[in-house]
Formats: sequence, structure tokens, C-alpha cells
Amino acid sequence: MGKEIIRLVETDITALAVDAIVNAANNSLLGGGGVDGAIHRAAGPGLLAECRTLHGCPTGGAKITKGYNLPARFVIHTVGPIWQGGNHDEAQLLRSCYHNTFALVEAQHITTIAFPAISTGAYGYPAMEAACIAVRETLAAAERITFLQQVIFVCFNIGTRRAYEEALQ
Ligand code: ADP
Repeated sequence: MGKEIIRLVETDITALAVDAIVNAANNSLLGGGGVDGAIHRAAGPGLLAECRTLHGCPTGGAKITKGYNLPARFVIHTVGPIWQGGNHDEAQLLRSCYHNTFALVEAQHITTIAFPAISTGAYGYPAMEAACIAVRETLAAAERITFLQQVIFVCFNIGTRRAYEEALQ
């Protein structure tokens, strides 16, 4: 399995009928702005109620919930690092987000998943560097997780799309 399992899609992630969508959450897991706010609005109050039982999540970690009113069956909440110039373990923490998300994919037998560009919005991570990590970690996971069929990278803006295109070269 290689790059052919990756698709770039320009859409609102909350519209996707995949097994799981990934949320770029914050440590509280209680909602926020950006993609996090959009996911909570679309999923409805059941999502927040389940998130309250999780007692937060460390940066680089990932936790799974049901999808409630979303077309996706599950939401995997992962907390990306805030970009602080690049010398604060940001790359390692962002790799952990993908690694820990794919561990849940494997455990839950998820076959289709969609990711937002974690950390590249409010958290300021450079799009190109984040895209390279996303692609590399996804290809590594696809080698290992034989039932993985499709990984969608949602490109919410043109800069994100260009970054993924370049990372896939
Ligand atoms: P972070 O705090 O991890 O940076 P953000 O939500 O601010 O998270 O941004 C992460 C990425 O998600 C950005 O590329 C942003 O444009 C994108 N994004 C925002 N809303 C949505 C959405 N509804 N669907 C998909 N991607 C989104």
C-alpha cells in the first residue's frame, strides 16, 4: 500500500461519511474554534457530553468518541502542538498525533479516515512541514494496517492543498 490510499479533498470535514474524522482539538477536549468548533456544532451535544468523561488529552495524544449527529461513525480527537518556532519538540509532538491516531484506527478496525491539517490553523504550524509529517506517518501506518483503505487529507484552503501536493511528490 502506498500513496494511492491518500486523497486530497476540499470540503468541510464534518460532511464526510467516513468511519472516522479527526478533530484538531485542544487539551480540554471541550471544544474550541476552527475545525474543533465545526465538529462540535455538527455532532451535537452528545459529543461534548462524551468528551467531558475523557478528562482532557495531553498534546500529541489521541482519544476516540462516537460521531453522534455526524455522518462519520467516530471522531478521533488529537491535540497538536502550538508552533513556537520549531525548537520545542513540535515535530515530535505532531508525529505523535498521527501515530496515536493510527493506533486507534488499528484498534477499532477503521478503514476510512479523514484528517484536517492538524496544528496549521490557530496553532501556527507551517503548512509544508506539517504536510510532510502527515504524509510520512500515513504511509508508515498504511504499510502496517492492511485493512486501511482510504486516508483523506481535507484541504480547507489553497495553501494546505499545495502543501500536501508538494509533500506527496
Ligand atoms: P489548530 O488549532 O490545530 O491549528 P484549527 O482548527 O485552527 O486547528 O486549524 C486546523 C486546520 O483545519 C486548518 O487548516 C483550518 O483551515 C482547517 N479547518 C477549519 N475548519 C475546518 C473544517 N470545517 N473542515 C476541515 N478543515 C477545517
